[in-house]
Amino acid sequence: MNLILLGPPGAGKGTQAKRLEDRYGLRQVSTGDMLRAEVRSGSEIGLQAKTIMERGELVPDAIIIAMLAARVSQADVADGFILDGFPRTVPQAEALDLMLQQKSMPLHHVIELQVDDAALVDRISGRFTCAKCGEGYHDSFKQPKAAGVCDLCGGTEFTRRADDNATTVASRLEAYHRQTAPLLPYYASRGVLRVVDGMAEMDTVAGQIEAILGPLPQKG
Ligand code: AMP
Repeated sequence: MNLILLGPPGAGKGTQAKRLEDRYGLRQVSTGDMLRAEVRSGSEIGLQAKTIMERGELVPDAIIIAMLAARVSQADVADGFILDGFPRTVPQAEALDLMLQQKSMPLHHVIELQVDDAALVDRISGRFTCAKCGEGYHDSFKQPKAAGVCDLCGGTEFTRRADDNATTVASRLEAYHRQTAPLLPYYASRGVLRVVDGMAEMDTVAGQIEAILGPLPQKG
């Protein structure tokens, strides 16, 4: 099964994608994570993307489309993927349509996580993750059970994204409304758009998504 999670920054796309990976055996493909890895490695793409990401703007379509095309050609996504953070513009969506058509891969659902802008700033500004396993936390909503120790792996180092600050969040939201929101009618007109209430508790949102996807696959 191939899915897109659509929604503004902080809507919970990454969190829900990770749950779907575990439960449905799908592969999360996050262009934001891929770009952050490029920045860390100091690659040519990373150098180009760094300042754009720090400003909260979108990286040019040509770079992102080439990066995504290479990623969906890898064997590990053949059993199904969850696109998290891609597409973000209509040209990216058109390029994706073409890519999937050429590979005879269907797009099953585009799931929009709807969240009010006011809630997003609070959600994003308090986020941090375990540097070792990537588990997500939040200053107000989800502190580790033991202060300074990751609940999952026992790691004691945490990181915050450079672009998770109030100033950058405003331009990321502006980019979402201006450049990404036009994808909602794009996918609605193709009959694949489904909407869930992203303001609900994490488990409730996961339940709404599972109701759209159908029964969990049998293990074993
Ligand atoms: P994310 O982790 O999805 O919030 O992405 C972080 C940043 O990476 C965004 O604010 C953009 O600067 C850049 N980015 C990620 N995905 C895309 C995309 N599909 N198109 C353009 N820029 C992107």
